[in-house]
Amino acid sequence: MVTISGKSVFGGVSIGKLLFYKRSEKVIKRTHVDNVDDEWARFQKAKDTAVSQLKELYEKALDDVGEANAMIFEIHQMMLEDLDYLESIENIIRTQEVNAEYAVAATADNFAKMFAAMDDAYMQGRAADVRDVSERVLDILCGVSKGMKEMDEPCIIAADDLAPSETVQLDKSKVLGFATMFGSSNSHTAILARTMNIPAVIGMGEALLQEYDGKDAIIDGFTGTLYIDPDEETMKAMQEKRARDLEQKALLETLKGKENVTKSGQKINVYANIGNVSDLGAVLKNDAGGIGLFRSEFLYLENSDFPTEEQQFAVYKQVAESMAGKKVIIRTLDIGADKQVDYFGLDKEENPALGYRAIRICLTRPEIFKTQLRALYRAAVFGNLSIMFPMIISVKEVLKIKEIIAEVKEELTSEGIPFKDDVELGIMIETPAAVMVSRELAKEVDFFSVGTNDLTQYTLAIDRQNSKLDEFYDPHHPAVLAMIKMAADNAHAEGAWIGICGELGADLELTEEFLKMGLDELSVSPSMVLPLRKRIRECE
Ligand code: PEP
Ligand code: MG
Repeated sequence: MVTISGKSVFGGVSIGKLLFYKRSEKVIKRTHVDNVDDEWARFQKAKDTAVSQLKELYEKALDDVGEANAMIFEIHQMMLEDLDYLESIENIIRTQEVNAEYAVAATADNFAKMFAAMDDAYMQGRAADVRDVSERVLDILCGVSKGMKEMDEPCIIAADDLAPSETVQLDKSKVLGFATMFGSSNSHTAILARTMNIPAVIGMGEALLQEYDGKDAIIDGFTGTLYIDPDEETMKAMQEKRARDLEQKALLETLKGKENVTKSGQKINVYANIGNVSDLGAVLKNDAGGIGLFRSEFLYLENSDFPTEEQQFAVYKQVAESMAGKKVIIRTLDIGADKQVDYFGLDKEENPALGYRAIRICLTRPEIFKTQLRALYRAAVFGNLSIMFPMIISVKEVLKIKEIIAEVKEELTSEGIPFKDDVELGIMIETPAAVMVSRELAKEVDFFSVGTNDLTQYTLAIDRQNSKLDEFYDPHHPAVLAMIKMAADNAHAEGAWIGICGELGADLELTEEFLKMGLDELSVSPSMVLPLRKRIRECE
């Protein structure tokens, strides 16, 4: 088995034979011509034919990939009418007294190099377009027909790069995926692959060899990997991944835009958990109603020093803006226990899960906490942001947090820095202590979010990290469920809302029970949003 990595431009898994895209072979020679007027006229005629071919392609693309994507073939027509482009060709024919083929090839080369050297990624992508239109004219001048041999069976198309016109001309029903050596994710081929919902990996470089033509292959468009002659184990894993993906896509088709509502009309919010801005795409793709848990500590874990206020502000703002008014709940840092960061200089502890972690660090090292709060209050201006605090055990802690928030707001005000004043505040219910005093806690906050991973650990006195205890770690334990119910009742009694952001929220066996408890929200990994929506819609 050969494994080649590239850049993914569209997710999905496809399995099939690899087929190298074959172009018509033509050799462009530089030859002397006596009559430059005739040669210029010969070029113009070829160019006009190319323009009318592009008009036809535009019509085909309009049907296949929609107006926005078909536009590229209008742009190609304009490129062929571009005065600089035409002037260059005419100038080469007339001054060098050479054939039109040579003039077109030379001009295409010069223009493509010029585009490729530009700073702007979009303009760099145009290098492929100018080559594409010029190839078309050259084919006409040389009298060769464009395209590739008929495909008998659906294949994964391999190529050095694929021009948009080549991509759109392929018989879509026979294309399982694209694998290319070069190309940019901004190229229209990449855009078309996305629009056509075809798994595609580009930029594999010289590792993608012609000799793989005809071999069995798998494209994993999620990781940007191409497997040639896959072994049994990889094949099995990829088949499963493909089945899951297809199931997910089918769900997406039927459930996208639908409400999370039971048969009897009970509604519940379904949000997604993220650890990073790179997860945002999955959140939007899976149609989550918001972000129920942004584990902000990943920002600290990825850094070699404390992330600055500006760094954090930029990330929170991006998340808030990208979610365009949908709720985004950011949890303040939950460092400690299994999430250790050297630069925090934390001591080694006997019982880290019961130790110096999360809000305990924030309340005793307020300089770290304040930096994060400043960034959060500033970013809240840019969307619908809520803040949530982890590992709470007492009302006293919440009051202390509020004091620190008041200081942060005062400082921002005196510095004249814009921030949102009335940010929704919540706490995580992760400890039995928090459950037991949840009625009092609910008076102080807007919402609860139950962290069932920790709540199970602390309720059952079972280390969630210890795999030896897996058979004892039972999040369905009646004690855990009773804790959730108690917190829900107390939240509602005080007018607060309550959700679950621990793994249990995605446990479809419990969905009905959570609905009965009257939970207002479930926040799950992005890929679980639609299966959960499906389950909710099946419940009475
Ligand atoms: C939890 O404890 O359930 C939770 C969501 O937080 P984390 O898993 O990050 O500890
Ligand atoms: Mg937790």
